[in-house]
Amino acid sequence: MKGLWFTELQTPSIKISCLTNKTLHWEKSKYQEIAVIDTEAFGRMLLLDGIIQTTVKDEFVYHEMISHVALNTHPNPEKVLVIGGGDGGTIREVAKHPKVKEAVLCEIDEGVVEASRKYLPEIAAGLDNPKVTVLIDDGIKHVQEHENTYDVIIVDSTDPIGPAVGLFAADFYRQIHRALTDEGIFVAQTESPFFNRDLIKRIQKDLSEIFAINKLILANVPTYPGGLWTFSMGSKKHDPEKVDRDSIPELDTKYYSKDVHFSSLVLPPFVKELMP
Ligand code: SAM
Repeated sequence: MKGLWFTELQTPSIKISCLTNKTLHWEKSKYQEIAVIDTEAFGRMLLLDGIIQTTVKDEFVYHEMISHVALNTHPNPEKVLVIGGGDGGTIREVAKHPKVKEAVLCEIDEGVVEASRKYLPEIAAGLDNPKVTVLIDDGIKHVQEHENTYDVIIVDSTDPIGPAVGLFAADFYRQIHRALTDEGIFVAQTESPFFNRDLIKRIQKDLSEIFAINKLILANVPTYPGGLWTFSMGSKKHDPEKVDRDSIPELDTKYYSKDVHFSSLVLPPFVKELMP
């Protein structure tokens, strides 16, 4: 029935509501409640425990920005790991990069992958790319089991609750550093610069102690709390601000571009304050 409203409690004092057309899927997996709904404003939407993960209308912003700034900072990102990201959007972007030969997705919840394949085919398309291997496993365990293996590691996780808590810990970042090759780069979604300031500050401090270079990337995702979103990067050697523009390949993207690569690293003063 058209006309029901879905509401997410984004922070204890902010709600976002979307007019829905249909509920396409609902299940309780071992890890979380998985739902796919069709909304008037954003099209199909993936919800985990009632929290918006991605929508057909704005998914490109998040998936392009979590992937291409890091991939284009690395001179030869042949082997890439994505942790989380079971909807497939990030791995779709990773597989687009001409230098990527092997992309591994390590998602803890098979239910997210299955629901996305069925109801969000334009986002999940990357899962079937021949460069991609999908593993159903805990990303923390996978990283612990690998050393000097990946050129780029992307953490496309849920908020720091439940199985994702450990994905925001300093010890995990040390394990990531170990799992990366000598020129390796790490990037993760790190929430809102309005509402998660202490978290971002702590993550940037941890990264500055573990990696030679730490950066924040900004992008606008309308369905996330506050709209403005951060991605934190830790890099062993390469600085995203010093990338040679001409080395950035022409990619089929809607938000990321050569200009946006550099502008996304320019921080307004209230965000710069979060840097160590
Ligand atoms: N773009 C989204 C956002 O910021 O809201 C994230 C979407 S993606 C669907 C997040 C995924 O991380 C979920 O499917 C969840 O199951 C997965 N995840 C959480 N903890 C994990 C872990 N320890 N290892 C692997 N995947 C994990």
